[in-house]
Amino acid sequence: MPPQPTAVVFDLGKVLLDFDYGIVINRVSKRSRSTPQELHHLMLHSPLLPAYERGELSSIEFFEKIRNETDYLGEYPEFESTFADIFTEIPPMIALQAELRARGIPTFIFSNTNDIAVRHIRANFPFFANFDGYVLSYEHRSMKPDAPLYEAVERMTGRKGGELIYLDDRPENIATGAARGWQAVLHHDPAVSRARIAAAGLLSTN
Ligand SMILES: [Mg+2]
Repeated sequence: MPPQPTAVVFDLGKVLLDFDYGIVINRVSKRSRSTPQELHHLMLHSPLLPAYERGELSSIEFFEKIRNETDYLGEYPEFESTFADIFTEIPPMIALQAELRARGIPTFIFSNTNDIAVRHIRANFPFFANFDGYVLSYEHRSMKPDAPLYEAVERMTGRKGGELIYLDDRPENIATGAARGWQAVLHHDPAVSRARIAAAGLLSTN
């Protein structure tokens, strides 16, 4: 039997919030000389977003690099709202976190993310305030699946190994957690993830 975990670590994107970079790509393409295909590459397959989410670029520097690459016509405030407003709640997962919180189980956010996204999420999604701690890539100069960000989770939670149960939709992130002994759950279906947390003893089973 694995030890009973005493805290739950949530990935954010595609676990608690859905997101669609297609929204950014379409909006920016209408305000720049870049095609949607070029923007798809720049946003999702170039080193730019990882550099931003590792905290190597400020939000303004990230914007200026996008503007230089695309001849984007807008100023920073327009870009910020365009880039931020891509998220929607995943209600059964937000309910799951609320249920854990009501039972006194500590919950944590563990996300590869950026300053624009987090300020938008804090301002628009009240559930985001209800965690015991946040390990955000851009504040630590490290991204999942690299070990330093997992070490930050262990320091913040005061827990390690099987004391942590961890939900993430990306196999490479889960693999690093599992290698550290965390009870790592590859999230794809809210009902399945809920059942795994219940089986670990953290939810009532009725
Ligand atoms: Mg994710």
